[in-house]
Amino acid sequence: MLNVVIFGAPGSGKGTQSELIIGKYGLRHVSTGEILRKEIEKRSELGLLADEYISKGQLVPDEVIIGMLGDILDEDRNVKGYIFDGFPRTLAQGEALDKMLREKNTSIVAVLNLSVEEDELIQRLLKRGEISGRSDDNPETIQSRLDVYHNQTEPLKTYYKRQGKLFIIKGDNIDDVFERITDTLNPIL
Ligand code: AMP
Repeated sequence: MLNVVIFGAPGSGKGTQSELIIGKYGLRHVSTGEILRKEIEKRSELGLLADEYISKGQLVPDEVIIGMLGDILDEDRNVKGYIFDGFPRTLAQGEALDKMLREKNTSIVAVLNLSVEEDELIQRLLKRGEISGRSDDNPETIQSRLDVYHNQTEPLKTYYKRQGKLFIIKGDNIDDVFERITDTLNPIL
């Protein structure tokens, strides 16, 4: 299986690039943010719990997210590979993902880190907030999501760098970013 992780700060373009990657390489998209937003819409027990964290710009607890991922990986058969978008977001999630994949005799082949300046991220998220209707695209929540990214998610860079899997991709505009991604993935996938 060809499993790819895409990670970056909120607003770095993970969702957009994931869609393009799926179109080209036929991977299965796993976006934990999207799954949680659907659960919120359904007003399920998981959705109600997740909403308490998401609306404040905090991370949903690791055990909830890791359990959710375990269910997805157990469900799917005959998948060419996954693109993990917005997961892992903590070291504990990264370690759990490696373990779950190892149990299925597979692993992560590449980790793409989209790198964008903070001012640009804030502008993008405020603009998205005007049209997305997302409860977390507002000025206060944006700042706490960026802080959470720096404190809890960025340490994953070192984790994957040590494994020799990290590729830092400049996240400026959609077409150039995708070209950099295909240049990175083509020799691997
Ligand atoms: P996203 O759509 O990836 O920006 O995710 C939106 C929100 O969902 C995040 O700010 C978190 O509150 C929550 N979330 C999504 N993925 C995760 C994850 N892997 N771990 C914890 N919380 C998550």
